[in-house]
Amino acid sequence: MSSGRSNVIILLGPPGAGKGTIASDLVDRYEMTTVSTGNILRSAMKRQTELGKKAKSYMDAGSLVPDEIVLELLVSHISQMDLSRNLILDGYPRNVAQARSLSTLLGKLGIPLGLVANVEVDDSELIERILSRRTCSKSDCQAVYNTRYSPTKQPGICDRCQSPLITRSDETEEVIQHRLRVYQEQTQPLLSHYKSTNLLRHYSHKDSSVIADLVAKDVEKINVEI
Ligand code: AMP
Repeated sequence: MSSGRSNVIILLGPPGAGKGTIASDLVDRYEMTTVSTGNILRSAMKRQTELGKKAKSYMDAGSLVPDEIVLELLVSHISQMDLSRNLILDGYPRNVAQARSLSTLLGKLGIPLGLVANVEVDDSELIERILSRRTCSKSDCQAVYNTRYSPTKQPGICDRCQSPLITRSDETEEVIQHRLRVYQEQTQPLLSHYKSTNLLRHYSHKDSSVIADLVAKDVEKINVEI
C-alpha cells in the first residue's frame, strides 16, 4: 500500500486481543511499519539498560510502566525509524496522559493520526487466548504465536528466526487478571477520549488477518479522503 503520505494508526484493545499479530500482519502484507512499546520495554529489560531495570517490576506485576519511561524509550526508538510508511502503534498510548504526549510528539514530527483501531474480543476468550500464547525469545524478533490458533510449524520454535519460544513472565493467570483490570481502568477511557476525533473504528473478528484487512482498507480510505 503506497499512498505517498504516511499516517499513524493506533491499535487499541485489551491484552490478548491479538494486537501484535494484527500489527505484524499489516507490516508483512501492507508494507506498514510498527512499533510496540511492550517489545521495546522487554528488549530494554533484557539488555538491562537503566530504563529497562526501572521498568521490570511494573512489567512483572502487569502494571503500566511510568509514562516518562515509556515516552523516553518510544521517542528514542521512533527517531531511528523510517517514517515514510504508515506507522502502527501497538500498545501506545495506554492512558489519557500518554494520548496527550503522543499528540504533542506527532505534532512535532508532522505526522497525522489517521485511525484509532479498537479491537474487540469477548472477555471470556481473552484469558484462554493469553494462556496459549507463545513469544519468540529473541529480542529483535518477539514474534507471537498461539498454540491453538496460530501454531508454529515446529513446536516451540519460531518460524521466522528459529529461536526457542517462551511463555512471557507476565502471562500467568494472576498477572493476566491484573492486566485486564489495568486495561479497564486506565486504557479503556481512551475510547471516549478518541470518540470526538472521528478517527475511532471498532473491529471484531476471530481471525486476526481479517481484522488486518479491514484496518488496511480503512487506512486506504483515509489516504483517499485527505
Ligand atoms: P504488551 O506487550 O503491549 O502486552 O505490554 C506488556 C507490558 O509492558 C504491559 O503490561 C506494561 O507493563 C508494559 N507496557 C507496554 N506498553 C506500555 C505503555 N504504553 N505504558 C505503560 N506500560 C506499558
